[in-house]
Amino acid sequence: MLGYMKKIGLTGGIGSGKSTVAGMLAARGIPVIDADQVARDVVPTALPELRVVFGPDIIAADGSLDRAALARLAFASPAATEKLNAIMHPLIREETERRFAAAQAAGYATVVYDMPLLVDLGLDQGMDEVWVVHVDPEERVRRLIRRGLSEEDARRRMAAQIGDSQRNAAADVLLDNNGTLADLQRQVEALA
Ligand code: ATP
Repeated sequence: MLGYMKKIGLTGGIGSGKSTVAGMLAARGIPVIDADQVARDVVPTALPELRVVFGPDIIAADGSLDRAALARLAFASPAATEKLNAIMHPLIREETERRFAAAQAAGYATVVYDMPLLVDLGLDQGMDEVWVVHVDPEERVRRLIRRGLSEEDARRRMAAQIGDSQRNAAADVLLDNNGTLADLQRQVEALA
């Protein structure tokens, strides 16, 4: 019989260091399910239906998805966004569940779900533990600018997510990433 597998939901605001923590955990042999990656991986499966609903303009010359074209059409109105979600969400949910099941079948005791919108979407409820990576907003803006975003874009994206206090309140474990990467590494090592 397979033992119980602990599900850790890893989240944090944009630019907080989720991917950095996920990388540290993966280096320690813990499997990580990357929600952004899942959303990208189901695109080929969704493509025929997206084409039917949004038209041939969303397909690039090489047959792949033209993301900018889809975004223009799908975010033009709430009804269009609803149609996009109706296609993507079930595929994403299915693929995510398949990856959890695969980790369980492989016998892992712990799996990490790296999901930026974990608390925003209420998915923290399905986790055994919620880890939130926290960085003060002004430091996040600085790091996002260093990564190539404009200050305006960084602030706009941060404002589109739930607030830090609400996200942090959902945390079983709060990782403080205001310091150095070595500081963060020490916190992760103490936990996993
Ligand atoms: P996103 O939500 O945009 O995917 P994220 O939460 O996954 O972001 P990371 O990509 O891990 O965050 O980190 C954001 C940026 O900050 C990266 O460029 C990363 O290298 C840098 N960074 C992370 N931790 C630190 C730190 N302690 N000191 C300095 N820079 C850091």
